[in-house]
Amino acid sequence: MNIINEFRNIVGKQNVLTGTDTNKYSSDWTGKYTFSPIAVIRPSTTEEVSEIAKTCYRSNIPMVPIGGNTGLAGGTFAPDSVMISLERLNKICEIRSESQIAIVEAGVILSNLHMAVEEANLAFPLTFGAKGSAMLGGILSTNAGGSNVVRYGNTRSLCMGIEVVLPDGRIMNLMSELHKDNTGYDLKNLIIGAEGTLGFITKAVVKLKPKPIAYATAMVAVPTLANALTLLNQLQKTTGSGVEAFEYMTKSYIQAHLEKIPNSRPPFDQLYDVNIMLEIGTIIPDQGKIQNDGNTLLTRTLERTLSNLMDTGEVTDAVIAKSDFQRTEMWERREASAEITITDGPMILTDIAVPLDKISSFMDKVEIEIKKVDPGSKSLTVGHLGDGNLHYAIYPTKYDLELFDLLNCAVEEVTQELGGSFSAEHGVGLSKKTSMKRRKDPIAIEVMRAIKKALDPKNLMNPGKVLPDI
Ligand SMILES: Cc1cc2nc3c(=O)[nH]c(=O)nc-3n(C[C@H](O)[C@H](O)[C@H](O)COP(=O)(O)OP(=O)(O)OC[C@H]3O[C@@H](n4cnc5c(N)ncnc54)[C@H](O)[C@@H]3O)c2cc1C
Repeated sequence: MNIINEFRNIVGKQNVLTGTDTNKYSSDWTGKYTFSPIAVIRPSTTEEVSEIAKTCYRSNIPMVPIGGNTGLAGGTFAPDSVMISLERLNKICEIRSESQIAIVEAGVILSNLHMAVEEANLAFPLTFGAKGSAMLGGILSTNAGGSNVVRYGNTRSLCMGIEVVLPDGRIMNLMSELHKDNTGYDLKNLIIGAEGTLGFITKAVVKLKPKPIAYATAMVAVPTLANALTLLNQLQKTTGSGVEAFEYMTKSYIQAHLEKIPNSRPPFDQLYDVNIMLEIGTIIPDQGKIQNDGNTLLTRTLERTLSNLMDTGEVTDAVIAKSDFQRTEMWERREASAEITITDGPMILTDIAVPLDKISSFMDKVEIEIKKVDPGSKSLTVGHLGDGNLHYAIYPTKYDLELFDLLNCAVEEVTQELGGSFSAEHGVGLSKKTSMKRRKDPIAIEVMRAIKKALDPKNLMNPGKVLPDI
């Protein structure tokens, strides 16, 4: 009880939740992990985060940071720990148009940042289905990817500086606004993607980009994944690397979308195996100007490219969005992926990446290997094809952890053979620790352990995540 009073003295009574008041926080987004934290503490400043960390460090209490709680790897699992919610650090401190940066606190919700920078005709070009809940601190801590990585890179590439509260409460200022800074080890990029195991991110300097003045968005069916790659490369050539999103949906995904999402419509008159939702964008005024036929030059470029590839048989069917409604419908189909893939029954959600020219081999090989392990299992794939990142979901025939492990192992094996990664964007958290042990270079794990020990010698910062158990 004394410790709870100490927390209350730091953030006020109303910001220390205990008992049933913590219910909202005591499960991850998937519902796979449920737990009872000692308390949920809601600081509103970096200094308060620092005081909480000092108190926990002194009293040997494990600390788990939480943002929007949309992570898909069990990273916020917090039994016998205090959860520190960054949700009240929610200020967009500055938007500086000239240098195209924003300074934001960790609890800013992604879509709020989108809206704020849009008013300045700028974009923070990171987006994914959970944008209405995910917070910048969590996004940085998972180095999230999303649908625009093909053009702008992942979160790491969009971050110039961060402020960090270390496990013992010291505040580390890495709030650089510089494009170049070679002063020693790259601590910013070490903390980004560390999933809260090395400290709390409390603030960040993020890069903004000019907001495209026009988009052209389409659903395209191609005969094979190799043809999809031709389409991507062709579009990059004809638009000067203007591809903003290049997303893949299988036939089973389209079917599941029609079944699960009320009032949804099929993208084409018939079902195809390889469906791509693509978007190109331009910041060049001439390209965005509406022509006599009601289309922009950008849309004409897209039409021409698709038409040329139809002539050679590399594109089978295509629908270009002619209104905001149609564009939104295309995006919603893609962004409903978590609702579509995640079910109550037995399932495994993988998050692999392979080199772009190996995607086709991955799909062919993985299906064979999965069927060898569990012939009756089903699968469904959706992914960020432009980055070689696929969410390959498996629905095993029964709930059996040993079977799950064999299936995971089969996916890992195919991925590794093709030079890929078992975890491309959701992070390792709790759910992929076994894969980490099996697949990550052992020396790399040793180095990670040494870093963890140096920064968190008492192992209090999000313990049990990312690094495999010894
Ligand atoms: C519908 C849906 C779609 C998604 N699509 C994508 C996608 O396309 N691409 C993608 O990459 N991911 C996607 N995700 C998962 C993605 O990782 C999370 O949505 C997001 O990045 C996590 O942000 P959050 O604020 O919810 O973090 P949380 O879930 O709250 O936390 C995630 C991890 O970060 C740690 N953490 C949180 N805040 C901090 C902080 N301030 N300092 C230190 N550590 C912290 C937590 O301890 C935890 O380990 C999706 C999730 C959903 C539900």
